[in-house]
Amino acid sequence: MSLRELVVLGTGSQVPTRTRNQNGYLLRWDGEGLLFDPGEGTQRQMLFAGVAASSITRLCLTHFHGDHCLGVPGVVQRLSLDGVPHPVVAHFPASGAEYFARLRRASVFHETAELVEAPVSEPGVLAHGAFGRLVARRLSHPVESFGYQLIEPDSRRMLPERLASLGVHGQAVGRLQRDGAVEVGRRRVELSEASEPRRGQRFAFVMDTRLCDGVFELADQADLLVIESTFVSADAALADQYGHLTAAQAGRVAAECGVRKLVLTHFSQRYPDPAVFRAEAAESFGGEIVVAADISRVAVPARQPERSPAG
Ligand SMILES: [Zn+2]
Repeated sequence: MSLRELVVLGTGSQVPTRTRNQNGYLLRWDGEGLLFDPGEGTQRQMLFAGVAASSITRLCLTHFHGDHCLGVPGVVQRLSLDGVPHPVVAHFPASGAEYFARLRRASVFHETAELVEAPVSEPGVLAHGAFGRLVARRLSHPVESFGYQLIEPDSRRMLPERLASLGVHGQAVGRLQRDGAVEVGRRRVELSEASEPRRGQRFAFVMDTRLCDGVFELADQADLLVIESTFVSADAALADQYGHLTAAQAGRVAAECGVRKLVLTHFSQRYPDPAVFRAEAAESFGGEIVVAADISRVAVPARQPERSPAG
C-alpha cells in the first residue's frame, strides 16, 4: 500500500516555545516527500520524527517570514552532506527570490545536491507528476504568500475478479487500461466492465492568510487540509490585522469546502490550552479535527470509492 501521511515537525507561530518548534511539515505521498515551510530547527525535528533528508523531493515555501523559512539553510546543507542523489525542486514566492538566494547559501558548505529553483510568480499549476498536479493559489498576508494544493486525478481501479471472468490476462490488462478497451477472442471488453471509478485524493496546505478566495480554492474537496489557526475568535481583530485566521474561520472553511480531515496548526503562543482551537473549529466542522502537535503523524484518510455527483 502506498504511504500517504503528514509528518508534523513544528506547529508554533512566530517563535518556538517549550512544546512547539517553529513550523515544518513533511507530506509523504507515495514516492514524493514535500517539505512545507521549514522554520528554524527543522533539521533537528526531522531527526526526532525519523525523517531522512533523502526523503525530501520538493521544498514548498508559502512566504518569507522567518518562522516559515529559517530552516532552509540547515535542510539545504543537509541534502549535500547526506549526498542526496535526486534533484530537489524548491517552490517559493518569486518576489522573495532574494531571500531564497541568501537562505540557500547562508554559509559555506560543499554543495553536491541539486536544488532546482522553481519560483512561483502567478497562481496555477506548478508541476505535474505521478502525484497529479501541484497547484499554487494566492493568499492574503502582509507579504506575498502562496498556498499549495496537490490534486490527484480521478482514475479507475481494476477489479481482478472481473478481469478473470472476462478472460483478460497478462499484457491485455495494460492495453485495457491504456486504450480503454481490448479484444479478447471475438469479444470487445470495455474498461468500465473490469474496473470501478477511483476518486483522486487531494491535499491542501494553507498558511499565513486572512480569509480570501485562495483559501477556499485550495481547501476545495481536500481529503486532508492543513491550515493555520493562529488565533481564536476573541482575537479576530488581531487575526485580521496581522493577516491570519482564527480556528473558527478554519472550521468554517473546512465545512464549506467538503474537507474530510482538518489539521489545525501555527498556533500563537498566547494560548496555553490548544483545546480551544478544536472547540472553535468543531462549532461548524463535523469531520475529524487534529490539533497538530510537534513530532506526530497524521494519516491521509483512506480513499472513498467515488466522489458524489453533487460534491
Ligand atoms: Zn507570516
